[in-house]
Amino acid sequence: MNIVLLGAPGAGKGTQAQKLVADFGVAHISTGDLLRNAVKAESELGLQAKSYMDAGQLVPDSLVIDLVKERLAEPDAQKGWILDGFPRNTAQAEVLDAELAKMGIALDGALLVDVAFDVIVKRLSSRRTCRSCGYTAGPETEVCSRCGGEMYQRDDDKPETIQKRLDTYQSKTAPLIEYYEKQDKLLKVDGDRPVDEVYVDTKAQLGL
Ligand code: AMP
Repeated sequence: MNIVLLGAPGAGKGTQAQKLVADFGVAHISTGDLLRNAVKAESELGLQAKSYMDAGQLVPDSLVIDLVKERLAEPDAQKGWILDGFPRNTAQAEVLDAELAKMGIALDGALLVDVAFDVIVKRLSSRRTCRSCGYTAGPETEVCSRCGGEMYQRDDDKPETIQKRLDTYQSKTAPLIEYYEKQDKLLKVDGDRPVDEVYVDTKAQLGL
């Protein structure tokens, strides 16, 4: 399974990815998680990425693309992967297509987790994320049910940044829906339903 997850921030891409990983043993490649880890580690990449992330903007392609290429080459990704949060614009999608062609890998599909923006705003502003493993849950959760880590509110899940992230999604990432439609790779689920119902559709769309 080699798939791309599309959808606005907070649509539930990460949650669907986590379920697919648990059931099918593929690698979850989340560029947001990779970048947050780099910020936490205060690496050169993290230092460069932080200001863009705090502003709800995309980190420059040159920083993100190498990160993804390296991650795709790791052993656990050889069994298949789910790309969550990449590509985020047409240039990244074109690079991904070129890389996959070089590697002789076909993309199985691009699954859009579709949720209306007003629902997204409510979800993001109440979302908590695990500092250790990236697991997400509602505001009542203080300890991660997956790894026991501390749950916190991401800086970019605060109201002042949410609208900027949605604007970025609309202008830069939403055009990928048409990009993958033209390649006949677009799949779609209605993400405004309970997680397990969305997951039933996700698997059906992916033929699993
Ligand atoms: P996410 O966790 O996917 O919502 O990503 C959090 C932030 O990381 C985004 O708002 C961007 O600043 C940055 N980011 C994540 N993935 C990408 C990407 N593929 N290209 C550029 N920036 C990204």
